[in-house]
Amino acid sequence: KPKLTEEEKEEHIRRSKALEDNNTLKLRKVSRQVYLQKRRDQKLLELKDEIVDHGYIFEDVKLTEAEERQLWYKEKIYELASEHIEDVDDIKEYRMPEAYDQEGGVNQGRRFAAAIHRYRDPGAGDKMVPFAEQEAWENCQSGKATLKSGSRNKQASADYEFVFEDGIGFIKESIMDGVNLEDEMSSEKPDDSTTKNALQKLQEERKTLPIHPYRDELLQAIHDHQVMVIVGETGSGKTTQIPQYLHEAGYTKRGLVGCTQPRRVAAMSVAARVSQEMGVKLGHEVGYSIRFEDCSSEKTILKYMTDGMLLREFLSEPDLASYSVIMVDEGHERTLSTDILFGLVKDVTRFRKDLKLLISSATLDAKKFSDYFDSAPIFKIPGRRFPVTINFTIAPEADYIDAAIVTVLQIHVTQPPGDILVFLTGQEEIETIDEILEYRTRGFGTKIAELIICPIYANLPTELQAKIFEPTPDGARKVVLATNIAETSLTIDGIKYVVDPGFCKIKSYNPRTGMESLLINPISKASAMQRAGRSGRTGPGMCFRLYTEYNFQHDLDDNAVPEIQRTNLANVVLTLKSLGVNDLVNFDFMDPPPSEALLEALGQLYALNALNSLGELTKIGRRMAEFPLDPMLSKMIVASEKYKCSEEAITIASMLSIGNSIFYRPKNKQVHADNARMNFHTGNVGDHIALLNVYNTWKETNYSTQWCYENYIQVRSMKRARDIRDQLEGLLERVEIEPTSNLSDLDAVKKAITSGFFHHSAKLQKTGAYRTVKKPQTVHIHPSSGLAEVLPRWVIYHELVLTTKEYMRQVTELKPEWLIEIAPHYYQMKD
Ligand code: ADP
Ligand code: MG
Repeated sequence: KPKLTEEEKEEHIRRSKALEDNNTLKLRKVSRQVYLQKRRDQKLLELKDEIVDHGYIFEDVKLTEAEERQLWYKEKIYELASEHIEDVDDIKEYRMPEAYDQEGGVNQGRRFAAAIHRYRDPGAGDKMVPFAEQEAWENCQSGKATLKSGSRNKQASADYEFVFEDGIGFIKESIMDGVNLEDEMSSEKPDDSTTKNALQKLQEERKTLPIHPYRDELLQAIHDHQVMVIVGETGSGKTTQIPQYLHEAGYTKRGLVGCTQPRRVAAMSVAARVSQEMGVKLGHEVGYSIRFEDCSSEKTILKYMTDGMLLREFLSEPDLASYSVIMVDEGHERTLSTDILFGLVKDVTRFRKDLKLLISSATLDAKKFSDYFDSAPIFKIPGRRFPVTINFTIAPEADYIDAAIVTVLQIHVTQPPGDILVFLTGQEEIETIDEILEYRTRGFGTKIAELIICPIYANLPTELQAKIFEPTPDGARKVVLATNIAETSLTIDGIKYVVDPGFCKIKSYNPRTGMESLLINPISKASAMQRAGRSGRTGPGMCFRLYTEYNFQHDLDDNAVPEIQRTNLANVVLTLKSLGVNDLVNFDFMDPPPSEALLEALGQLYALNALNSLGELTKIGRRMAEFPLDPMLSKMIVASEKYKCSEEAITIASMLSIGNSIFYRPKNKQVHADNARMNFHTGNVGDHIALLNVYNTWKETNYSTQWCYENYIQVRSMKRARDIRDQLEGLLERVEIEPTSNLSDLDAVKKAITSGFFHHSAKLQKTGAYRTVKKPQTVHIHPSSGLAEVLPRWVIYHELVLTTKEYMRQVTELKPEWLIEIAPHYYQMKD
């Protein structure tokens, strides 16, 4: 059982109370509001496809200004993608396999659909009546429907009925082939009956992984080749086993074995698993390193880390001298840091012939990796996957959150045992579903089997992460609510059902407007296949896609666009420059970023005085590069030296790094919460100073948890801010900036902020909207800001976000003369 801390228990109780005070209806309403916008986004995308496909625009569709811009923006991204990805057509592996009629699979798929329609006609059994599904669906949509529990062969199918507000109809469209189902599997199953100790058991489990039979062959190949690409199904053992094999083969005698992960949670979780398998304490022989958290030591020989951390290690060790092997894992993710790493490690392998380099990938894009790494050999680990039945919805679902909840409940009451994995886009969404599911299953009481809800996302506290890996008790069912992390980075055993709404959050950057947006976007076909595959790991699986087959075929791209082609590159450029890579245009990118984005990044760094006329780092630039932060935040900190407020600057930077999870608004106490929040804004100090006030007041209460509750502040976020602040404090020392506090002069603090963020200035218009000064566009103060109703003439903002409108988030009033004082090269008096 996972142990909750006292605070978490309290929070849990508080949440349950808050839920009880509400009824389901209200909860649903809230969730609908939240997701209304997401639906609009989807519509927009659909609309865009119409335009592109048919070359015409619907006359009767009026787009708002923001929608137009968004459309244009998406169009550009699409253009970039098609410019830069040449071999999309080569990838045949992602095609849907032809549907074939195979007893087990088909019946399973049918049974589900049948369960839906049986509520209308209990006698109909498993035989499908033409149009019954469509009819059932319509009926479900139009009113409340009762669903009889269970398929016939389930003994537990009692006589009670479940009431769903709207059930969802699915249609089985195809079966995804199982691969290499070898019969030796069953004979190699670990023998649980004996009284072996945990370590022995883990050792036996290791031997059952698909990679195990290829251990020696793999080691031989690594011995023979310096660079190798390794491809294998998710769950075959690449991440957990290869570093251990390398250790067993003696590679750790010559240096560290480093393994990079695109995600923090994966680095931590995998390291924890491997330390268990090796029977050592996490942080000793096996460690991990993620931004703001280093859990490794002198003893460490296997080090899991985020790709971004390895990138930072290049700063202190450009030849990676302490490593004997680098494994760039999850290469197919193509994160920004992974792409940069590719270029850097490729270079290192040329002058360090003793360094082994492994690139691993869960998908079959290995050819591209191989070509890039001078025709490195590809090692394929034959996979092992059971067939997966794929179900699509009969008609498009308007609200995928609702649809996901209903589908989970449907599976729970109608399908045989097996855990469920739901793919969601982020923490907020996961928490919403968690609450609703908890509430709705509680309503059923003991009438249904226990449903254990396990969320997993990047900011989830480590103690709670372990919960997803715990075996499900008999008679209960686990539902894992996960972000993309469960797509390939983490393998969760026992999953039989996958619910895939078809969306993920994608960060996009528009160099022309300088706007970065985190939008919910449809996933790619490749992702959809990966997600489906998660259900076929330990037995035949089922995947419920909350979209139609038509959507799948026509609306999803084959592959996602690499992050490097859709992000702000200022940070990367700063890092590369500090590594001495001055010629960015000729840097060996696997897929070069758009030159527009590179120029934009260079321009931004010039404006921050980080580069000299030769394009090399200035002293300011070198200091900035030490901070693992956005260049504007780094500049704010470096500039705070001048304004004698470095203490305040690092506090504000830490609070801003937490994102938007500091304040919460319980659904029935929003007024209280808003009042509490506004206390920190007394004097209209602006959001940055308000964040500073929150942190300092918390500190005065000796970091009290109780105080956080009373003020509707998330303890967890505050603790993280404190950790980050501690780290930044260490870095201040490293760049030789004295920690000084200047709380009596808030203008000084604001000037330090302006030094980093002077690009982000906006002026109030007569209309009540704002106009950004550089790259003029109309924006608004985010409603959560303390200045949302004050509307100062001039403001400086932390970020622009595109939700229902273009909003400025974290806003502080600005005196325009500061701009001329601080950035004379950027702003001039109008004469
Ligand atoms: P790959 O990297 O090829 O996708 P992994 O090495 O991550 O595969 O996982 C191999 C197996 O190890 C999984 O199938 C799972 O059984 C087990 N495993 C991995 N991580 C954990 C964990 N944190 N807890 C329990 N089991 C795990
Ligand atoms: Mg892996």
